[in-house]
Amino acid sequence: MCGIVGYIGTKKASPILIDGLLKLEYRGYDSAGISTMEHGYLSNMKDKGRVKNLYNLEGIDSLEGTIGIAHTRWATHGKPAKENSHPHMDNSNSFSVVHNGIIENYQELREFLTNNGYHFLSQTDTEIIPNLIHYYYTKLEGSNDKFLQAVHQACGDLKGSYAIEVLCKDEPETMIVARKDSPLVIGVGKEENYVSSDIPAILSYTKDFYLLNDGDLAKLSNTDISFYDSSLTPITKELKNIDWDVSACEKDGYEDFMLKEIYEQPKSIRETIGSRLKKNEKVNFEDIGFTKETLSKFNKIYLVACGTAMHAGLAVKPLLERLCHIPVIVDIASEFRYREPLIDANTLCIYISQSGETADTIAALKLSKKQGATTIAISNVIGSSITREADFTIYTHAGPEIAVASTKAYTSQITLLTLLTLYFAEVSESAPTDVISDIKDELLLLPEKITEVLKDDSKIKEFAHKVYEEKDIFFLGRGTDYTVSMEASLKLKEISYIHSEAYAAGELKHGPIALIENGITVIGILTDPTLVEKSVSNLQEVITRGAKTLIVTNQEINQTNYDEVITIPNTNPFISPILSIIPLQLFSYYISKEKGLDVDKPRNLAKSVTVE
Ligand code: GLU
Repeated sequence: MCGIVGYIGTKKASPILIDGLLKLEYRGYDSAGISTMEHGYLSNMKDKGRVKNLYNLEGIDSLEGTIGIAHTRWATHGKPAKENSHPHMDNSNSFSVVHNGIIENYQELREFLTNNGYHFLSQTDTEIIPNLIHYYYTKLEGSNDKFLQAVHQACGDLKGSYAIEVLCKDEPETMIVARKDSPLVIGVGKEENYVSSDIPAILSYTKDFYLLNDGDLAKLSNTDISFYDSSLTPITKELKNIDWDVSACEKDGYEDFMLKEIYEQPKSIRETIGSRLKKNEKVNFEDIGFTKETLSKFNKIYLVACGTAMHAGLAVKPLLERLCHIPVIVDIASEFRYREPLIDANTLCIYISQSGETADTIAALKLSKKQGATTIAISNVIGSSITREADFTIYTHAGPEIAVASTKAYTSQITLLTLLTLYFAEVSESAPTDVISDIKDELLLLPEKITEVLKDDSKIKEFAHKVYEEKDIFFLGRGTDYTVSMEASLKLKEISYIHSEAYAAGELKHGPIALIENGITVIGILTDPTLVEKSVSNLQEVITRGAKTLIVTNQEINQTNYDEVITIPNTNPFISPILSIIPLQLFSYYISKEKGLDVDKPRNLAKSVTVE
């Protein structure tokens, strides 16, 4: 996971590197470090803990180098400790490397290097990389472009995933970078170039970017960048101009990114809808361009994702089945990829990933392509890995999401999947037009209705204050309300560390009701008029057993039974998750704040899960 930054130019590198790391900290934050090219040697300063600790390292202010690499870590091999922090150097301190990813065959390579006289100072998989580069470099004595060739040869030995930046003491005006299954972008300035794991971290320096593909290498100087494919053949790349707003990547006066992102949802939903849906017009997915014949060939649809994105798939499955009459299977990417799923040319597989870098989702996509399926990627990040693998890509356009716990990306994913469903139904003429029209009209009203929901902020905060010391919280719902329960429960676990369970309300009596005792908190979601009576009865069952209840509803029900009621605007039940999750996002947020936790960077998590 981790974040890496690189700078090569005419300015002092260390402040630029630390600034970039601070913006990438959401990707990993158990240790940090930088290495710069000083006069005749490579500096290496690092420690465990947050990026801001770098400011306290002795000597950091006196670094003068104008070329440097930097890392904020999410440990996979070796505990968070100074010796395991990146950058890592080879035994002769000639090469400095930062790495994002996992080297799966590191033990074998470590043994090989040990047999060749190398020794290791850390428990990381990464430390073999600078030593392997050194090994090849010494063997290339007399050849041209030794540094590039040595990095290329070392990469050829690596199994697993990597995005690396490498400096070489003896070639002080060059930086080499390479990637495979981990993200890396290059930003272009005037007499300077930047490297980063993502675009927002360096957006304040440049808006012109090159995106590297799997297997690519690049050799950078102040004024030049040369690109190579995995066989070291020179290649050309297209420069992309990214028009994201820098302030969109900053907090804009909100206390945390998560709160900002919750409040951005009227805007993000509007952007997701964009030009795809206009009043009284057909849904437009020109970029996919399926015909009735193409759609008729599909006999099943898979929605594959992880975590919150998987919950977005679950929320849309009922609508997709109802309007398109095709069985829909929602699957967890890490399970799907190892189960030999039944996929062929008649399967449509849709992959959902906010970052577009989720390792399990990318692997699942590659597998289904091999088996002949048609693939669509849904991502929020332009040019991310998943978008380069899929047959078709559609973007959520939710804007950068920085908080580790996803909020606006989830509601945008549901919105986009709903639009896609309506598009399929219109093209294949598989659903009555009045049913389609009602959902379209309701989609266009969502931004205003979300603004309405957000007005209940202080009421939700008060309820959070009442229950923040709880040890367990239950979420109940039926139909799409059950899918929202799952997402609400995940959000609570992620940022408040409270144990919580989501149950289909009708399932409670089949076992989990044994856990309901006096004073326990149960949250009910009641938005589907066809299921509300049943869910009310299930809530009654927990109230009888002493539960405290909060309900989120748009139905007319007897409210006196509950400790707190959050009323949200009515909408079509198929898209109600987009509204009903919002008070529950705020609920998790305020519980986390009450507990004094770091909302944006919860323990053990990272934003972009680029490891299996
Ligand atoms: N596998 C490397 C380590 O544990 C890199 C992890 C990361 O991507 O932060 O140090």
